[in-house]
Amino acid sequence: MQSLKVVEFDKLDTTIQELLREATKAREFAYCPYSNFSVGACLQCEDGTLYRGCNVENAAYPAGICAERTAFVKAISEGKSKFKSLAVIANQEKFITPPCGICRQFMSEFDDITVYLAKPTLESATVLKLSELLPFQFQLNSDFTF
Ligand SMILES: [Zn+2]
Repeated sequence: MQSLKVVEFDKLDTTIQELLREATKAREFAYCPYSNFSVGACLQCEDGTLYRGCNVENAAYPAGICAERTAFVKAISEGKSKFKSLAVIANQEKFITPPCGICRQFMSEFDDITVYLAKPTLESATVLKLSELLPFQFQLNSDFTF
């Protein structure tokens, strides 16, 4: 596996620091009585607008939604369609929490955003492009040539 780019929190752009702090706030609203695995996300649109999202579970498990998709759905339903970056923070103290496969596919419908993954302590962020997380997403009429 390639080595991941990790940037100390203080060295991140202040906008990205805010994005990470907002993701932390969003996590507080997570509805996760079944897993107790709270996740917060914050999506930065191209125009600078931020949309927070948290995971929302359901007694019928597959009906639940992840924090990342919540943020995207909120932004898109407010008329946004161009996105720049996303921060994701879960309750794992010792690990970063990358988006699940469904969220990767969902987000890949839009722009190749930069994803910032951090632990709750916000000491640093792992930075990578969505296309690195999901290099060969499902596409209609895809023309991947190897
Ligand atoms: Zn997900």
